[in-house]
Amino acid sequence: MENQIRVWGSGAAFGRELGNPEALKRPQRDQTALSIFFKDLHILIDAGAPCTEKMINAKATPPDLLLITHPHNDHLSDLDKLIFSRKRGYNYAQSRLKQGKSQYPPFPIVGTEECIHHEKYGLKKRYPYLDSVAWTPFPAYDAWYLFTGKESIATNQTEFVSPLDSKPPLAIKALPVSHSSHGPGSCLYIIKLGTDHEYTIVISGDFESMDKAIINHPDLKDPDVLLLETNTLYSTGTHHTNWEKNTALINTWFTGQKTSTVILYHISGYEDWEQGYFDIIPDDITWQREINKFNPPSGCNIEIATDGGCYTF
Ligand SMILES: [Zn+2]
Ligand SMILES: [Zn+2]
Repeated sequence: MENQIRVWGSGAAFGRELGNPEALKRPQRDQTALSIFFKDLHILIDAGAPCTEKMINAKATPPDLLLITHPHNDHLSDLDKLIFSRKRGYNYAQSRLKQGKSQYPPFPIVGTEECIHHEKYGLKKRYPYLDSVAWTPFPAYDAWYLFTGKESIATNQTEFVSPLDSKPPLAIKALPVSHSSHGPGSCLYIIKLGTDHEYTIVISGDFESMDKAIINHPDLKDPDVLLLETNTLYSTGTHHTNWEKNTALINTWFTGQKTSTVILYHISGYEDWEQGYFDIIPDDITWQREINKFNPPSGCNIEIATDGGCYTF
């Protein structure tokens, strides 16, 4: 199989919510959940509903780990179902194993320290009933977390070795972003894949702003794929970034030296309508029209994510 990103859900909190008639006037998008398939590795990033059904229907290999960008409901709405469904799967598989040892270790759920352990909003606090889960907090920001004990990334920065194994080699770093006080530990992830960590994938997570030091971080230059939250086109003060602000980030992060893909996800537009930028919540055609006005750095292809979208790298 080719290395690919699968978008199960490309939408935001107001994509298809019960009790929100305005949201129903526009094409519905499922909540955030994206998969990276690299060789035999499957990393799921966030678990918005209904990603579990979609993965089952797509006959996807089950995720090896779940990376959570921050503890907001639109990124967790399918977490229970994912864990319960996975548990049924390996209960079945275990019953067929004659040897004593399970080949299905607890499922790693990886996030920043606050995302996992925050007193009120942390996942461990809110999902104490999930068993067969390995809560795996990042020991620190801006440090590579290596998911194999052997390979070392070419860096003089701090490295940690995850208690979880991964094949092929995988390194992940979290950098803090500013999002919302209800989403402690919000972060972006830099993911390096391959024996020589030759592929770099960045996912921004939800954010309203980033410190200058983060924006100018050398590890964010020229990723192969950038998954960029783009909640709205122009609205402000929403705890989220918008397309206008994102164009500046794209111009900073891409030097025009190589081919790369920017996938805009967490598409809402709800607040653009709320704040009077558009008479109705902007539809897909309007989104595309606005995006097309921007001239990106050379080699940089910009895609608006669709539910079920598949992007190779
Ligand atoms: Zn969100
Ligand atoms: Zn959020």
